Amino acid sequence: MQYDLAILGSGFGGSITALIAKQLGMNPILIEKGAHPRFAIGESSTPQAAIALANIADTYNLPRLKPISKYGTLKETYPELSCGPKRGFTYIHHPNIESELLVAASPDGYNCDSQWYRSDLDAFLVEEVQEANIDYFDNTDVTLSQNKDWKLEAENFSCSTDFLIDATGGANPLNIQQDISGVRTNSRVIYSHFDGVIPWGELHEKPQHPYPCHDAALHHVFSGGWMYVLHFDNGITSAGFVLDCEARPNDTWESLMNELPFVKEQFQHAKPTMPLFQTERIQRCAAQMVGKNWAMLPYTAAFLDPLHSTGNAHTLCGIERLMPIIAERKKSRKELLLEYQSTSMHEIDLLDKIIHGCYKCFDNFDALSNYAMLYFAGADFTERQRRVGKSTGFLNSSDPAYCALVDRFYNQVLAEKLDTNDLEREITPWNLVGLCDPAKQNMYDYA
Ligand SMILES: Cc1cc2nc3c(=O)[nH]c(=O)nc-3n(C[C@H](O)[C@H](O)[C@H](O)COP(=O)(O)OP(=O)(O)OC[C@H]3O[C@@H](n4cnc5c(N)ncnc54)[C@H](O)[C@@H]3O)c2cc1C
Repeated sequence: MQYDLAILGSGFGGSITALIAKQLGMNPILIEKGAHPRFAIGESSTPQAAIALANIADTYNLPRLKPISKYGTLKETYPELSCGPKRGFTYIHHPNIESELLVAASPDGYNCDSQWYRSDLDAFLVEEVQEANIDYFDNTDVTLSQNKDWKLEAENFSCSTDFLIDATGGANPLNIQQDISGVRTNSRVIYSHFDGVIPWGELHEKPQHPYPCHDAALHHVFSGGWMYVLHFDNGITSAGFVLDCEARPNDTWESLMNELPFVKEQFQHAKPTMPLFQTERIQRCAAQMVGKNWAMLPYTAAFLDPLHSTGNAHTLCGIERLMPIIAERKKSRKELLLEYQSTSMHEIDLLDKIIHGCYKCFDNFDALSNYAMLYFAGADFTERQRRVGKSTGFLNSSDPAYCALVDRFYNQVLAEKLDTNDLEREITPWNLVGLCDPAKQNMYDYA
C-alpha cells in the first residue's frame, strides 16, 4: 500500500488532519495504536479553538465539523455526542474563596464553547474519516524506517508513504530527542472522571457572576497549584489537581481534599468512574518537530500545562498552518516546515511565560487576576483579528510588541514586583474589552 501521507494517532488532531488531506486531493492513511472509544484528556475548548475549527470546516469543505465549534450547534446536530457548556473561565482562590475572577468568553449559553467528551468526539471523528473512504487501521503499532519513502510495518500490516505526521500526543514513535531545559513551568497532575460532583454554583453562586460560574473551565487556585473542574451534560465531571512539582512534591488527592474544605464540600458525593491517574512532571518538548518528510502536530511536539485550556486551540491552529505546507510543492516544503517549527516553538515559549508567571502569582490573587489578563488580552485580540480575516498567530504571538509586554511583566512577577497600574496601562493596545478595570471587580461579562 502506497500513500501520500500517513498520520499516526487518531485523537481529534490526527483525524481532522486526515480529513483535510483527503480534501486536498491526497491519499492519506490514519493509524491508531489503540482503539475507539477510549478515554482522552484535553476537554475544555476555547474561542480560539472554535474559530480554527470553523475555519478548517469552511476552507476544506468539511461542513460536518462546523457544528462542533459551538456548544448549541454541537448539541443540536450531534445529540449522541456528550459535551458540556463552557461560558468562560472561572478562578476561585482557596482556602477562603472570597476572591474570584470570572471572564466570560461567549455571549450566551448557545453560542459558547464546550467541554469535549473526548471518547465520544474522537470516536465520531474516526467514523467521519472512515465515511470519507480514508484508510484507517486501529490496534496497529507500527515500526518506522525511512529511505526515499517512509516504510511503516506492524504485524500483518505494511505500507509506504511520502510524508509522515506524528499526531500521537507525545508518544514519540520517531524517537526524537526531548529537551525541556528551557521550559519554566514544572507541574504534575492527579486526575480522573467523576460522578456526583456538585456544580460550584449550587453551593456558591453570587448575583454578580456574569454566567453560571460552573459552566466554565472552573479553576480552584491555591498555594502551589490549582484544580480544574469541567462538567459534562451526562453527569460526568472531569477534574484534576495540577501541582507545582517543587512546591508540592508529595501531595495526594486525599491530602488536598483535606486541606481545601470547599473543594471537599464540592466533591463530598463524588465517585471516580475510573482509577485516579497520577503523572510525573507533564512538561515535554521535542528538540525537533519537523524533518525530512515528517512533522509533528503542536501537542505532540510540546506540552506545558492545562492552565487556561490552550492545548486544543494550539493543535488546531498548528493543523491550519501545517496542511497548506504539506500540499506545497516539495521544493519549498523544507523552509516552510522549519518556519512552522520556529513559529510553534515561539508560541510554546510565550505560553510558558504566561503560565509559569501565573503559577508564581498563586499566593497573591490580585497579582494573578492582573497577570492573567496578558493571556485574556492576547486571546481576545487574536479572536477579534481572526473574525475580520487577519492572523496575529496563536495567542497574538506574531506581534513583537505584545511578546515584549509578556516578557516585561513576566520578569516583574519573577522579581515579585508586578506593577498592576503599569500592566493596566501597557496592555491598552490589545485590551479591546475593558480588562484590568478595577470597577469590574474581577467580573468580566462578554463584550
Ligand atoms: C492533564 C491534561 C489536561 C488537559 N486539558 C486540556 C484542556 O482542558 N483544554 C485543552 O485545550 N487542552 C488540554 N490538554 C491538552 C490536550 O490533551 C491536547 O491538546 C489534545 O489531546 C491534543 O489532541 P491530539 O489529537 O493532538 O492528541 P491526543 O489526544 O493525545 O491523541 C493521540 C492519539 O495517538 C494515539 N497513539 C499514541 N501512540 C501511537 C502510536 N505509536 N501510533 C499510533 N497511534 C498512537 C493515542 O492512542 C491517541 O489516540 C490537556 C492535557 C493534559 C495532559
